[in-house]
Amino acid sequence: MTRSEALFDRACQLLPGGVNSPVRAFKAVGGSPIFIDHAKGARVFDVDGHGYIDYLGSWGPMILGHAHPSVVEAIRQAAERGTSYGAPCPAEVELAERVVRAMPSIERVRFVSSGTEATMSALRLARGFTGRDKIVKFEGCYHGHADALLAAAGSGVATLAIPGSPGVPAGTVADTLLAPYNDGPAVSALFDRHDREIAAVIVEPIAGNMGCVAPLPGFLAHLRSLTHSAGALLIFDEVITGFRLELGGAQGLLGITPDLTCLGKILGGGLPVGAYGGRADVMAQVAPEGPIYQAGTLSGNPLAMAAGCAMLDLLVGEDVYGPIEALAARLESGLREAAAVARVTLCVNRVGSMLTAFFCAGPVVDFATARASDTTRYARFFHAMLRRGVYLPPAQFEVAFVSAAHSQADIDTTLAIAREALSEIAAIQR
Ligand SMILES: *Cc1c(COP(=O)(O)O)cnc(C)c1O
Repeated sequence: MTRSEALFDRACQLLPGGVNSPVRAFKAVGGSPIFIDHAKGARVFDVDGHGYIDYLGSWGPMILGHAHPSVVEAIRQAAERGTSYGAPCPAEVELAERVVRAMPSIERVRFVSSGTEATMSALRLARGFTGRDKIVKFEGCYHGHADALLAAAGSGVATLAIPGSPGVPAGTVADTLLAPYNDGPAVSALFDRHDREIAAVIVEPIAGNMGCVAPLPGFLAHLRSLTHSAGALLIFDEVITGFRLELGGAQGLLGITPDLTCLGKILGGGLPVGAYGGRADVMAQVAPEGPIYQAGTLSGNPLAMAAGCAMLDLLVGEDVYGPIEALAARLESGLREAAAVARVTLCVNRVGSMLTAFFCAGPVVDFATARASDTTRYARFFHAMLRRGVYLPPAQFEVAFVSAAHSQADIDTTLAIAREALSEIAAIQR
């Protein structure tokens, strides 16, 4: 038995499923998870002494690689001055200034401790501000685990949501309207039917939680004009895309201005941070300035703020985005070639340093087309890669992240391994 297996046995006695967040348990790919001992740069090392080229990147935050010296030093220095005060500290102002500078649509911001808190709070704000209850979300978009956002897809073009988990009351998602991603007419139909009842549309402007799916031309502009004319708010959930594609997020890249933006992941440099922010008149409704309540004992935590400041300073100061996009493009074309040689059907979606290889012909443009992917093949591919030292996300409907710590040699090693892995899984099929 490996150390990872022994730890997982112990963990399963104590933690539901042996983990503190479900997808870590490898249920989608089978087998038992590896336990990480430490991580540095583009690599994670397990408790059994194996190293892996890491494309999980902690699900997105580690755009500069693990344990970046400047981020570690900022956390160390902050820790020596105390880990939490429950009172304002300068680093909150410093991080807020950096966020507002990077993303022009964010005039004012509130820090929280996770992406889930950010989206949940942004929804409350949108509902309080508009005095309306209904929200529109898209099938296959994930916005954290708040009740109202845990709505599964119904069938049809756009349907009323049913709860996506036991424990979510039907009444809680009764005001959640669903539409397929990239389906502008479906959203128009919802607005036709519910016009003055819709508080907000929440969307991942580039989706990462059904695998990487880009918005089709005109889709986000359509959402912008529909919400604008109905007096509803447009909320961009940029928990993944914020600071990932360029400093200004997907909204900067695509040139669409939302009313509110949710951030997380990269913002905290690997520490627990989320944020929501946007139009000054909307944010003025948040307590204590306005009546809409939202609070947090550890919000604006000095360690997390220091890590975020160090992270954003590095992203501003260094030429990060061009080089990682070039590496990711090399990975994308290499995977396509390897799949063609191995005669494995593969659809590779990529935006910047976000990439998903779907085991289907594609194109993948929404959750329905993503689900056409052969997840059994993905599971085999995942394990064939892991055995050879490459750590991919342990589920098909996730994104592989390239970081600034990856080298061209890392990508080429990954591609050599992918060629072996793909021919291995091709042989299983024949
Ligand atoms: C990860 C994620 C969240 C939730 O963030 P947590 O920090 O896990 O609560 C919300 N929205 C999107 C788009 C995400 O990828």
